[in-house]
Amino acid sequence: MIRFPQAVALTIAGSDPSGGAGLQADLKTFQQFGVYGMSVVTLITVQNTLQVGRVEVLSHDLVIAQLDSVLADIAPKAIKIGALGNVALVERVAERLQSVTCPIVVDPVLVSKHGHSLVDGDVIDAYKKYLLPRAWLVTPNRFEAERLTGLPLCKPEQAAAALHCLVDLGAKHALIKVGEFGGQSHHALSIAGGYSEVQVPRLAASNTHGSGCVLAAAIVAKLAMGESDPYQVAMFGIRRTLAAIHCNTQLGHGIHPAETRAM
Ligand code: PLP
Repeated sequence: MIRFPQAVALTIAGSDPSGGAGLQADLKTFQQFGVYGMSVVTLITVQNTLQVGRVEVLSHDLVIAQLDSVLADIAPKAIKIGALGNVALVERVAERLQSVTCPIVVDPVLVSKHGHSLVDGDVIDAYKKYLLPRAWLVTPNRFEAERLTGLPLCKPEQAAAALHCLVDLGAKHALIKVGEFGGQSHHALSIAGGYSEVQVPRLAASNTHGSGCVLAAAIVAKLAMGESDPYQVAMFGIRRTLAAIHCNTQLGHGIHPAETRAM
């Protein structure tokens, strides 16, 4: 049976050959929710669950050629931007997406969970100047939010100021993965300038590799399915990410990957 209209999402992201993070996590997440996934590769990592060994950023011409090719043929209903790797890519991708009207979710990936940098040079100014003004939603973790805003984020009470700053920088909405405090995992959300805080129990599970990718990808899947309420899509992403962290697969000898399951 063919279903129309087909929900289609695009990820512009790096490759994790171990399948836990990056475009592989995004595509698998899209698929779990019945969304047709497309991917533009920005960089190749050599990694497994133990470590990232090497990162090679593709030339911006090659990345933009992939993007042109896909966009000329199949229109996504939502786009996720993951690791971009360098300033030139941030600039060129942002420029190419000027004419795109669907919502764009920007996950400003800087460092892998193993602590390996996924960017070459200082991309922070380029994110602020070119990409945040294009973002329907930006989803930094605590450290990325600190870098983007220049504000400290050592406790949940500091999240409101950081969210305010991200919106001032041009993002329509912002969701910060603030981190774990007092046995709870805190998320702070700014929707159209408002502020809300979401606390979920901290999980003992160690399946966190790729969890940031899963969060943004689940949000993009929900947008592609036609949901437009920012609070609803953010909550969908947070709930599905918790389930993915809780998947309890013991794959690999390092940080076990999060794995999305349709519920
Ligand atoms: N994108 C790529 C290509 C990666 O390799 C990683 C982490 O290794 C990430 C994104 C970020 O992953 P996480 O969701 O664990 O922060």
